Amino acid sequence: MRLSHSLIPTLKEVPAEAQIASHRLMLRAGLVRQTAAGIYAWLPAGLRVLNNIANIVREEQNAAGAQEVLMPTIQPASLWQESGRYEDYGKEMLRIRDRHERDLLYGPTNEEMITDLYRQSVKSYKELPQIAYHIQWKFRDEVRPRFGVMRGREFLMKDGYSFDIDYASAVISYRRMMLAYMRTFQRLGVKAIPMVADTGPIGGDLSHEFIILAPTGESQVFFDAAFEDVDYSAANFDIREPADLDRFFGVMTDNYAATDEKHDLDAWGKVAEDRRREGRGIEVGHIFYFGTKYSAAMNFAVAGPDGQKIHPEMGSYGIGVSRMVGALIEASHDEAGIIWPDSAAPFKAAILNLKQGDATTDAICEDLYGKLGQSALYDDRAERAGVKFADADLMGHPWQIIIGPRGAAAGLVELKRRATGEREELSLDAALARIGVTAS
Ligand code: ATP
Ligand code: MG
Repeated sequence: MRLSHSLIPTLKEVPAEAQIASHRLMLRAGLVRQTAAGIYAWLPAGLRVLNNIANIVREEQNAAGAQEVLMPTIQPASLWQESGRYEDYGKEMLRIRDRHERDLLYGPTNEEMITDLYRQSVKSYKELPQIAYHIQWKFRDEVRPRFGVMRGREFLMKDGYSFDIDYASAVISYRRMMLAYMRTFQRLGVKAIPMVADTGPIGGDLSHEFIILAPTGESQVFFDAAFEDVDYSAANFDIREPADLDRFFGVMTDNYAATDEKHDLDAWGKVAEDRRREGRGIEVGHIFYFGTKYSAAMNFAVAGPDGQKIHPEMGSYGIGVSRMVGALIEASHDEAGIIWPDSAAPFKAAILNLKQGDATTDAICEDLYGKLGQSALYDDRAERAGVKFADADLMGHPWQIIIGPRGAAAGLVELKRRATGEREELSLDAALARIGVTAS
């Protein structure tokens, strides 16, 4: 994109309403704008990040054998009356009435709807197990929406649902999703720790929250260094193999990890001192097993091997895709702005033309822009060099290619790596090769 004709409204001033770094930076870097309390419009650069995250989530879900669907945002109240949650959900649910006086709601989550879809079509134990997910906007009328997209009212979530014929099989689905989550976070370049969470009346140990480490996170977390050493890639764990999932789950649960609310000083004392890690964290995902809660309440049963009725065992698996944008920034920024991980960055590189209108710099920039295409943001504004440097640092592109008149005359450009601040002078082709584009 050419910055001169883009809706990427960067701000020099720090917006007064934003209390945390990610909220300030998302506004300042022109990623989002608030349209109502807790509701945001995603501008081009922000939308690219959101889509990049959603795509990584999608790829890892698909690789785990989950199938993508798309359920609507608007749901009939009748489904929630069946499960009993229509009354229970309270004021967080946005309730709507249509012209025919039918009660609808803007979905805060989709257990009822997915159970209904399976109930309509899946009749035999032979069709299970299955996992289905979607990436869809949710609405929860939070009492205090705050911290920008971190706690919005409208937000994008990946929510998945597993259906299994018995508990043993449900456990495998659960572990499979947990591994898919760890892979997702690894690819996004953040450290995530699974923490045992409350299971409520269901009991058992199959409920985990995923906490991303970030110095400004809301909760204090304590964990064993073992989590830092795990390689979650396919080379280490085959996600299709129950034995591998077993080994993986062992690593995740045998090592100490807890948030401050659940911190157990006795157990912590047993972790070798040099392996104790502490930090702040942000919850970005939550998975839990809830047995036949919905399948029984909504009368979804399949025929078992002996013709008996079986209510499938279910689990649900959420990732806050829009919250993740804020969480990545909390985990990776400095005084000057955002430092995007390569996998989520809106643009791989920014092209900074330090002398717009100069025939030589313009020609080099156009050449580069032609080769990098949509993966680059070309700062072609008639602005001072200082403004372009500051905005590029603020926006956090992994690479900056800086084209000034002196270097340009010698056929050289300067390449800056945002994360380290390292700069070097290179030929055009060498710069392109360095950022992973083969020159023609
Ligand atoms: P919280 O305790 O933060 O309210 P939750 O328990 O209500 O979260 P879940 O229902 O488990 O959240 O939703 C799954 C994920 O969706 C969360 O882990 C979080 O990343 C995201 N999420 C939940 N509520 C919001 C929100 N208001 N704004 C942005 N993301 C959210
Ligand atoms: Mg909540």
